[in-house]
Amino acid sequence: MNLYALDFAALEALFAAWGVAPIHAQTVWKWLYRQTPLDFTSLPDTLPRHLQVRLAAETTLSLPDVVASQVSADGMTRKDLLQLADGQRVEVVIMRYRHRHSACISTQVGCACDCRFCATGQMGFVRHLTAAEIVAQVIHAQRTLRAGGQSLTNFVLMGMGEPLLNYEHTLDALRRLCDPRGMGFVERRITLSTVGIVPGILRLAEEPLRISLAVSLHTATDALRDTLMPINRRYPLDELCRALRTYTAITQRRVMLEWVLIDGVNATREQAEALVAHFADIPVHVNLIQLNPTPEYAGQPASPEAVEAFIAVLEHAGIPHTMRQRRGAPIAAACGQLRRRFPEN
Ligand code: SAH
Repeated sequence: MNLYALDFAALEALFAAWGVAPIHAQTVWKWLYRQTPLDFTSLPDTLPRHLQVRLAAETTLSLPDVVASQVSADGMTRKDLLQLADGQRVEVVIMRYRHRHSACISTQVGCACDCRFCATGQMGFVRHLTAAEIVAQVIHAQRTLRAGGQSLTNFVLMGMGEPLLNYEHTLDALRRLCDPRGMGFVERRITLSTVGIVPGILRLAEEPLRISLAVSLHTATDALRDTLMPINRRYPLDELCRALRTYTAITQRRVMLEWVLIDGVNATREQAEALVAHFADIPVHVNLIQLNPTPEYAGQPASPEAVEAFIAVLEHAGIPHTMRQRRGAPIAAACGQLRRRFPEN
């Protein structure tokens, strides 16, 4: 029995089956998620000796095996390839900054959304991840940082997959990680990124869990978005904007709009103006990021002049914006590059 495969109710059920008092489930849960232990030697002394022995004998603390790792030259970004029980693989990226440490987590193997510029999209959809598989990536990141005396402060669901198309498992995982009896991860330090699945956004607005939301917008005209992000044909811009108005009204939170700058495609004054026209009355923050090249897409990062002109339009309209630091590109761990790119694959 792998303890990291259980949710709290399942742990309680296990202890009930063993005839162990429920209070001990809380102690073990807290130990599992606050200490992210590697073995059973650090089990709290308050647990009865027989329970400690039984846990060590009959349960494990296993996470998916790390089958390959790459570390950037400056040591600040690390990409680990995790192998799941059925042999499928997902990548976790761990990023160290000066004051915070973040991880980029996957929610599916592959992705069905087919965004042209995204390496995961280019590989197609394989399967959803379970809640336990999503949780395991975060525990892995925490263990890795702890080994260096650091600790995870943020994470983003910006790895492989579309979280809102794997809604139940994703939310189950987040509830488990934010559970104050355990890890108690700070909700707003979790960012869920979506291509703009309208029903998912509306459902998320009603969740008691108040995580941060990012929308991969990338283009602000239906004609262009239809071609770059086929999901737009299902949920066109007007519908997406309506959902975001509702979301921001209910949550009272600003939404982050992601914009991958592609030279001559969307890094244009016209697109910036279209963005302003759609979003002037919605509380957003635009996060610009240069395109990272992927094998099956010919687009290139935008020229400095194009970026400057784009930003000038946002400034003029008073739309808050930042330019995201590119991390991990040399080890193919940057946004949109997550796919099987390890040497042994
Ligand atoms: N499916 C979700 C989350 C995964 S992608 C979503 O699309 O939001 C995380 C971010 O990386 C998205 O904003 C995505 O558009 C961006 N991205 C994809 N391919 C990229 C590339 N080649 N260069 C830069 N960013 C990319």
